[in-house]
Amino acid sequence: MDTIDVSNLNRQFLFRASDVGKYKAEVAAAFVEKRVKGVKITPYCGKIQDKDDDYYMQFNIVVCGLDSVEARRWINATLVGLVDPEIVDSLKPLVDGGTEGFKGQAKVILPTITSCIECQLDMHAPRAAVPLCTLATIPRQPQHCIEWAHIIAWEEERKDITLDTDDPEHITWLYQKALARAQEFNIPGVTYSMTQGVVKNIIPAIASTNAIVAAACCNEAFKIATGTNPFLGNPESNNYMMYSGDDSIYTYTFEHQKKDDCPVCGNLAKEVEVDGNRTLQEFVESLAERPEAQLKKPTIRTEEKSLYYQSPPSLEKQTRPNLKKKLNELVSDGEEIAVSDPAFQIDFKFKLVFKK
Ligand SMILES: [Zn+2]
Repeated sequence: MDTIDVSNLNRQFLFRASDVGKYKAEVAAAFVEKRVKGVKITPYCGKIQDKDDDYYMQFNIVVCGLDSVEARRWINATLVGLVDPEIVDSLKPLVDGGTEGFKGQAKVILPTITSCIECQLDMHAPRAAVPLCTLATIPRQPQHCIEWAHIIAWEEERKDITLDTDDPEHITWLYQKALARAQEFNIPGVTYSMTQGVVKNIIPAIASTNAIVAAACCNEAFKIATGTNPFLGNPESNNYMMYSGDDSIYTYTFEHQKKDDCPVCGNLAKEVEVDGNRTLQEFVESLAERPEAQLKKPTIRTEEKSLYYQSPPSLEKQTRPNLKKKLNELVSDGEEIAVSDPAFQIDFKFKLVFKK
């Protein structure tokens, strides 16, 4: 449902300056139909989550062109859910690729048969957050000074103005604040473009990395559709291709194995070691950071009781006192809990084991 921005023009070949402001899906479809005679493309402008199972059932292959882990997790869980062993056509191969700067990967998932996006989640760990105390007390890197300006200085001095990361005046203000702080701590390297990058959380998109990964995805889709050659993810073969141009050039293809405790395609609860003296609140916060969970608004319950509900408000209020309680007061060692998050239609099963 994205629209075309001027900054999109340099790294693609589907859009022209006159298309700025229009829907990407519509312009791309029209361009390809004009270029390749006989191809029919139906564009949709909307969230992938707005379409139901019947919509996804009509396709033979799903090729993702997504830009977030969250959207990938959603389509993955949906396709795993569609599989009905009685209906051969219910199994839709999922071709997915992604890039981050000079790095990229391409993979094919056969839902319920091979390792799925959720099984692979720890391969896409979020970048470690810098503790607020580091920002507030002893910054060590230029990025820390920028985050300080962004999170702390803006709040203190320009509280009434909503930060607009596209407004050059706002970025200049943050840059100058960050620069002054960096000088105070003798940290070199703060620049305007670094400020913009940190604040907007920009990972540079490199056109050639995108082209390599897109080509790999297209080839796999072609091979699945035609059966001309074995494809990535063919049962009992390699299913994951990694590409790295960070340090010279390197590709590696391997078999990423399906996990028995995957919340989407497995059936066992995932064992998680926790400190029983930590509070439920601390556990809830840790779920956002754990590479294998990455849940931001979790609701937690055991088989018998509700530990914490994010909504509705009445239940949130009722379960809120539990946040202050220690885990060992709420659950027993080895007990299973179910965690759900409105962003995904999955129940994550965790088995809590107390640290000895
Ligand atoms: Zn899985």
